[in-house]
Amino acid sequence: MQVFYDKDADLSIIRGKTVAIIGYGSQGHAHANNLKESGVNVIVGLRNSSSSVAKAEKSGLTVKPVNEAAAEADVVMVLVPDELQAKLYEDELKGNMKQGAALAFAHGFNIHFGYIKPREDMDVFMVAPKGPGHLVRSTYVAGGGVPTLIAVHQDATGNARDIAMSYASANGGGRAGIIETSFREETETDLFGEQAVLCGGATSLVMAGYETLVEAGYAPEMAYFECLHELKLIVDLMYEGGIANMRYSISNTAEFGDLTRGPRIVNEQTKAEMRKILKEIQSGDFAREWMDENATGGKRFPELREGAAKHGIEEVGTRLRSMMPWIDASKIVDKSVN
Ligand code: NAD
Ligand code: MG
Ligand code: MG
Repeated sequence: MQVFYDKDADLSIIRGKTVAIIGYGSQGHAHANNLKESGVNVIVGLRNSSSSVAKAEKSGLTVKPVNEAAAEADVVMVLVPDELQAKLYEDELKGNMKQGAALAFAHGFNIHFGYIKPREDMDVFMVAPKGPGHLVRSTYVAGGGVPTLIAVHQDATGNARDIAMSYASANGGGRAGIIETSFREETETDLFGEQAVLCGGATSLVMAGYETLVEAGYAPEMAYFECLHELKLIVDLMYEGGIANMRYSISNTAEFGDLTRGPRIVNEQTKAEMRKILKEIQSGDFAREWMDENATGGKRFPELREGAAKHGIEEVGTRLRSMMPWIDASKIVDKSVN
């Protein structure tokens, strides 16, 4: 598979365009600031009532109502939550965007599952950083970037791919590597990764380990350090040099336990469930469940969120982290800014 870098992108393409970033959340604040610092003319599109207006203006960005930003832009990057994008497109983008402008996404969900059917005169492409928005920003500031997927769904002007590559480069992706894919592939692998491994798999593993220790009578503080805090240190080693690099650093005892016990925790049954989860994604069942949840008032999601926030691991974690001020001093998420 070919991986592209800054040298393969023509930054002047995106610098010659006005880009509207709609939404100023996790991805939005990162794209807006990265593109601006890469010399792109950026407008942030927000509702007047949005609490993000002040944050974006404080960062020196131009903010306009969504319909105005959409009307002025050559590229409109949609960075509001996936479940709100179809309505945003119908109400604010479809009727306002210029002929031949580009509609861009950071995740293929709405295009791939057919919730948005873009006008035929538009280019439709994706620039999807493979990392949380706050890291898309912090790695850019540090001179690096986050690996990024690009894809073209509709190429009305014949330039969609070059614009996507140029945008990805301006956002810092070309420093880490840009991979060309399809909306289908990005959507399915992204949903699978976040459900089975990165978010769902990891949090369930951490909580199950924590609960097992606490239920067996060990102190919650011990269980927190062992099952959550130390996970970052282990993952940092894997990030730096793969699984072997991590195993080089741990003791032989830990490594023997890893190799003999790990496969008992994540076993054939776990993999069978992973295949089921992948099938639900591929069939569109997961997308329907998520869109139905929102269409019917979205009660289950906030309930689940609240329940999870009350878990003992969060309470003990808040207390223990307050004794480790260096974590806060170098924090990635600052809710007053981003
Ligand atoms: P978010 O929830 O962090 O932010 C959404 C922003 O949209 C907020 O600023 C909100 O105020 C604004 N908004 C909501 N409704 C709006 C409206 N009607 N008009 C204008 N603004 C509105 O969202 P996010 O997590 O950054 O996700 C944005 C997109 O990026 C999604 O497609 C998501 O799948 C994709 N993505 C996110 C991440 C991530 O790190 N969070 C990673 C890769 C891709
Ligand atoms: Mg995702
Ligand atoms: Mg140990």
